[in-house]
Amino acid sequence: MEMLPLWRGTHLKYRFKPECALWPLAVMWDEYIREMVRHRDLLRDEGEMSTVNPRFHAWRERQIRRCNGELGGSALSVTHPIIAFELSDGCTVGCWFCGLSAGRFKGYYEYSEEHAELWRGVVGVASEMFGSAARTGFCYWATDPMDNPHYDRFLFDYYQITGALPQTTTAAPLKDQALTRRVLELFRRYRTVTNRFSVLSKTHLNQIHAAFSPEELIGVELILQGKEALTAKAFAGRARERRERLGAANKDDATRVPQRNHTTIACVSGFLVNMLQGRVQLVTPVPGSKRWPLGYRIVAEHFFRTLSEFRSGLQSMIDQHMFECLPRHLPIRFRRDLQYEAGTRHFHLRSRNMQHRVVDNLAPISVGDLIVCGNCTASELVMRITADGTSVLAVADLLDQLYRAGVIEEDLDDRFASQTSKDVASRIEAANHAAHNMGVDHADSR
Ligand code: SF4
Repeated sequence: MEMLPLWRGTHLKYRFKPECALWPLAVMWDEYIREMVRHRDLLRDEGEMSTVNPRFHAWRERQIRRCNGELGGSALSVTHPIIAFELSDGCTVGCWFCGLSAGRFKGYYEYSEEHAELWRGVVGVASEMFGSAARTGFCYWATDPMDNPHYDRFLFDYYQITGALPQTTTAAPLKDQALTRRVLELFRRYRTVTNRFSVLSKTHLNQIHAAFSPEELIGVELILQGKEALTAKAFAGRARERRERLGAANKDDATRVPQRNHTTIACVSGFLVNMLQGRVQLVTPVPGSKRWPLGYRIVAEHFFRTLSEFRSGLQSMIDQHMFECLPRHLPIRFRRDLQYEAGTRHFHLRSRNMQHRVVDNLAPISVGDLIVCGNCTASELVMRITADGTSVLAVADLLDQLYRAGVIEEDLDDRFASQTSKDVASRIEAANHAAHNMGVDHADSR
């Protein structure tokens, strides 16, 4: 009765209005949510690296702009952390909706003396190369933190090195309650972004409330994922595969249909590191699709066994794939999700939730028409446009603005496209096997 505007249809009209003061709990809840949203925007800003790593900064900013146009309803909630770590291989939970199609659990990264040394070194390298942006990092991806019984020790190291305690999301808070309590205690002591428990059913919700007190749950957001819940599932990973299977069989289960406008659960624009496999990938969110079924694009991949291999792997990916300005030697075309419409001395680009109007009056030939043809490199395009004496600087400036706006296609490489988690696992096995047999480093040196 104290929060009717939150749930009763006849009272919804009072929400966010002065009359809502009659229901103080509803007002408090809405203020809490507003604060969470403000905090989310601050997190995105924390990944700023303009001085410490300008190449990475320019690349991430472009990905943020692209995502704002391309990800639909998911865009606002993506904070683009610059690094994430997996401390296990696979996941024991096996949620039917897993947007990352986490594979079968194969083991966890123990906190042995040797591993702890490498781990502290790896976090130290991230902190040294990316400065305070390393504070956006977290320690799960297609894994559940509670599958690693030493998870809290890794977290504490991260806190000591970067000054920030990584946020935790788990769907298995009851699996090892002593571990969950140690993680909550770290939160109580050092504070961090609100932790999250994914609640898989009503029974699970009741069990969580029975196991943890309201005080313990004060820093935990309960994400209701059960089939009775209204939380939308992203159109990526297993939820997408399931949707397509049901669609093919003409069977829809309305309670379990992922929303097409919720396109991905991936959030990192930067590095994804699996400590057990010694693998680091450069990734960025994209809508789940046949090309990128897991809702993120893999730009490059590198394997490491030592700290110096880790450091050189990061550096080579930055040098080879994070361009500060438009690369002259690569084909130039608009992003494949954009619709191009030519106008008189201007053109429009339309995406899922954005529209750009671009003035295109530098030369008699249209810059937009040449880009949309997609059959020349940036330097060839500049030569063609400026053949009649048009200013090179003006054309370069226009291309630079388009590039920074994130409308020029950067996804030009098919090597990692259309892969499922099974393909990734077999590629890692093959790489490990080759390295073992040959006794050589299998770092990606492309
Ligand atoms: S959603 Fe999370 S907990 Fe569930 S299977 Fe995927 S990684 Fe595991």
